[in-house]
Amino acid sequence: MDASRLTTWIEIDEGAYAHNLGFFRRLVGPRVELAAVIKANAYGHGLLEIARLAARHGADSFCVFELDEALALRRAGFDQDVLILGHTPLARLDEVVAEDFRQVLFNRRSLDALAAIVARTGRRCRLHLKLETGTHRLGVDEGRLADFLARLAASPGLELEGVYTHLANVEDTTDHRYARRQLERFEGMCERIAAAGFKRVKRHAACTAAALVVPSTHLDLVRLGIGQYGLWPSKETLLSYKLRHHLGDGAAQVLRPVLTWKARIAQLKEVAAGSYVGYGCTYQTTRRTRIAVLPVGYADGYDRRLSNQAHVLVGGRRAPVRGRVCMNLIMVDVTDVPGVALEDEAVLLGRQGEQTVSAEHLAALAGTISYEIVARLRPGIPRLVRSPTATASRPQSQIGPTTRW
Ligand SMILES: *Cc1c(COP(=O)(O)O)cnc(C)c1O
Repeated sequence: MDASRLTTWIEIDEGAYAHNLGFFRRLVGPRVELAAVIKANAYGHGLLEIARLAARHGADSFCVFELDEALALRRAGFDQDVLILGHTPLARLDEVVAEDFRQVLFNRRSLDALAAIVARTGRRCRLHLKLETGTHRLGVDEGRLADFLARLAASPGLELEGVYTHLANVEDTTDHRYARRQLERFEGMCERIAAAGFKRVKRHAACTAAALVVPSTHLDLVRLGIGQYGLWPSKETLLSYKLRHHLGDGAAQVLRPVLTWKARIAQLKEVAAGSYVGYGCTYQTTRRTRIAVLPVGYADGYDRRLSNQAHVLVGGRRAPVRGRVCMNLIMVDVTDVPGVALEDEAVLLGRQGEQTVSAEHLAALAGTISYEIVARLRPGIPRLVRSPTATASRPQSQIGPTTRW
């Protein structure tokens, strides 16, 4: 797609993505299955665009949250293993079996329904049993394990391919004692599963943060989410990683952000000193001001809490957002940016010249985490993949912005 025809778009840097995936491959080694977590439209990066890059650059399989995401991958021609991490409605479990998806298991009623489907169709279904170890989100309590295992053993078409758990407290701290307690519980339950006769079951526990700072979590498979997109799960994870590897500020460059969000200036105007900008008159100019209006707003995922707070990059400089973020528009102050013209590119997230607006920084301003900043980027915004070979059309964001909070 030709960006000159677009008002707003997202550029995906294939070189940065390949770099990140290569980094995680080296981290976990060749024998661990690297499962790219591409739920929530690949954390806002574009489901199919990222699936293509993940397959090309060494991911072994995919994780999604729901059945429809898995079906979208199949329809687009991806034949890799896809693990559905969320609940599939009982009425649609036949689609899981028909497409040979891997399904997470934590409800006894889902197990009964699947047993009936494989008995009826003669097909198999691969299940990953989710164990409750202290996060108290999805999972089977240890007290119910024997019952699940007995039901699985009685149904030859059901294959216990994996068992896994999810850790509650790796990202938010540099103290990983709670994670280690969860891992001990997980190991104990895995031993019971092995003792019950289930063999060659893949064990997994790691998300990005655990993969980075608790290597004992790598086990057989790593569920790699945010890190593949070049974002650190948190400041604490970056700090723990630096401490483990005796790294200084260079550690932030271990990962390269993949996404740049751009928009074209829709109108430029001169505003007299003392004028108000936007709904609620929350900003009053203190001088004659040049305002650029950009065609993005909170409906696109530009958080309204960024009103009067964030900066946008124009002409390689930081232009402050003035007034409230509207549904489809924002106003930015370009008085100090020379030579700005209608339809010039502005960068809302990413790098332009020497300047960077990081997802972490926008998250801090909006009172959230980088995950939410990218995951809420409106799916309808076109995603353009920039490949390293296309040097002629190479955007300035070739080297991703480093992480800054
Ligand atoms: C989203 C998710 C992940 C990925 O987490 P990141 O922190 O983004 O790496 C891993 N496992 C499960 C169960 C998830 O829901």
